Amino acid sequence: MAEEEKEKRDDGCEKQEDGTSGKHFWKKDDKECGPKSHQPLFDFNRGQFRFSIWFFIASLMAIMLFNSLYVRDKLPTEQLIEYSEFKRKITNDEIRQVHLAENFYYGSPYASKDEAPGENQVLYKTVPVDDPSLIKLMDEKGVSYYAVRQNSPVILGFILNWLFPFAILFLIWRVLFKKMGNMGSSVMQFGKNKALIVAEGNTGITFEDVAGADEAKEELLEVVDFLKLPKKYLDIGGKIPKGVLLIGAPGTGKTLLARAVAGEGHVPFFRMSGADFVEMFVGVGAARVRDLFKQAREKAPCIIFIDELDAIGKSRITSVSGNDEREQTLNQLLVEMDGFDSTNGIILLAATNRPEVLDPALLRPGRFDRQVLVDKPDLHGREAILKIHSKEVKLGEDVDLHSVAKATPGFVGADLANVVNEAALLAVREGRKVVTQNDFFEAIEKAVAGLKKKNKLISQKERKIVAYHETGHALTAAFTGGSDPVQKISIVPRGIGALGYTLQTPTEDRYLMTQEELLGKIDVLLGGRAAEKIIFDSVSTGAANDLTRASDIAQKMITEYGMSEKFYNVVLSKRGTPFLGEVSQPGQLSREYSEFTQQYVDEEVARIIGSRYNGVLSLLTSKLNLLETVSKKLLDQETIEEHEFRNILSEAL
Ligand code: ADP
Ligand code: MG
Ligand code: ZN
Repeated sequence: MAEEEKEKRDDGCEKQEDGTSGKHFWKKDDKECGPKSHQPLFDFNRGQFRFSIWFFIASLMAIMLFNSLYVRDKLPTEQLIEYSEFKRKITNDEIRQVHLAENFYYGSPYASKDEAPGENQVLYKTVPVDDPSLIKLMDEKGVSYYAVRQNSPVILGFILNWLFPFAILFLIWRVLFKKMGNMGSSVMQFGKNKALIVAEGNTGITFEDVAGADEAKEELLEVVDFLKLPKKYLDIGGKIPKGVLLIGAPGTGKTLLARAVAGEGHVPFFRMSGADFVEMFVGVGAARVRDLFKQAREKAPCIIFIDELDAIGKSRITSVSGNDEREQTLNQLLVEMDGFDSTNGIILLAATNRPEVLDPALLRPGRFDRQVLVDKPDLHGREAILKIHSKEVKLGEDVDLHSVAKATPGFVGADLANVVNEAALLAVREGRKVVTQNDFFEAIEKAVAGLKKKNKLISQKERKIVAYHETGHALTAAFTGGSDPVQKISIVPRGIGALGYTLQTPTEDRYLMTQEELLGKIDVLLGGRAAEKIIFDSVSTGAANDLTRASDIAQKMITEYGMSEKFYNVVLSKRGTPFLGEVSQPGQLSREYSEFTQQYVDEEVARIIGSRYNGVLSLLTSKLNLLETVSKKLLDQETIEEHEFRNILSEAL
């Protein structure tokens, strides 16, 4: 029979069933246990003092015992008699000495203590009555009488009567408030903030510990530099942003980066999570914000870091269920942010993975005016992260972190740290001293299975499509006169929907655009789909956003900029300016031209897009070699920087 899992009690007794009667009893080492004992007052194993009503009763009994032992005189056998009897015994000379105590009168048949036999002495005891004649009677009978001042030790009396009750009260008070504190909020700590103050460099984390997020690091380095040498910036009249918001998917290292800033800056670092502000009581969050900034002002220069900002910073407009507490907290935060400026040496850092839900007021200039994107790491970044996390791990000869990085597209820092740890655990489980490449791949497989459910990881085939698509954009931009230079091409998925991106930075601010430039823009937007068409001879949905934007430009050229042949210099739509941030809904605006004209506009848009698309197709077909080279490189290293891209182009020419 298989061994059953036996029910076990705290005191080590096991439950046993009696098969015949169906009753159960408890046994330990084959001896029967008694009923379950109460929990001990003091749990030595856990070093905890358990407060219970029993403790209270026990201490009361102790007080009473003390009283009876010390306060009352120690006396021989006593016999309680009536007062009249007592008096009669004095008259009859049966009592010759009287002790007038406070609660009782004690009468002894012996005139003095020396006479008394010590043992077997019988004392008469009576309850006093307010009777002045007793003294007269005793004087007459020559009875000696005396009273003794109560001489219980003064200090003991003081302790028992004053200190002890207070001690007990204090204990009860402590226990009660501890319990309340456990319930989630403590009234006594009302408004006190729970910010962790990490002293100079105490985080022990530097930028060395963060890999991959190079752009974010660069931005934050400036912040650190300012905290170290504020004079340098102030002398020149420079302004450092008040608030820096780190935006990125979960696990990309936002919290890590903030801690690195503190570690590098050697300034006090106040860290709080947005959730810490939101409490049961209305007003507590706001009070905490106030308190936090007050502390920070005292410790300036310093950094305040609010993690998970979305917990308090949710848009007040879109939140369905009104949450007064959160709104108050957010308002207080806005007020405090307006109240300081970075010349005071306070810099506010915050992190969120849901920037879209943040209240727009938070993102206004003067608040979190600088937003730093903490991207998912590319191949290079992943390798560096793996290196950091496997520093302490004993790696086998065959381990190649580069190929591990290659096998983990879409993984973020936290996932990679997890992979390294899993691999190490696998090695331990199999009793090996070092981690092998195989361990890594098993760990990745495990992680992928988990991640597939959470967020989509793109397949190899899709990656290839994305790579050619992005290369198509980049090459078209490179060969279209007047278009902005390509700064970065990437197939690292960013957020929802965007599987890759091609970044173009304008060389100068533009307020006017020529017709040629507009057409160039359309070309670049169409480049993605054209590349797909050339390479795979089929097109994908990946270009949906590109096409929308391209059509939009074409439409505006005709209706707003008067750039069509038929309506040359004529504006067709008279859109009113939407009122204060109101978003104009397409379809809601009334068209101010005829159905016939509308048809012309639609046809003209289709014609422009069509002819531009053909142009791009022939351009990219003529650069097929380049398209292949760049795409392969992109697939290989996931991102291509500006200078690399330019090198490839100049080599090809
Ligand atoms: P986030 O706050 O963005 O959700 P964390 O900063 O909490 O992510 O990251 C979780 C863990 O993942 C970190 O403690 C670190 O071990 C690891 N990690 C994440 N990103 C990186 C990175 N860029 N470099 C090194 N380790 C990283
Ligand atoms: Mg975090
Ligand atoms: Zn595209």
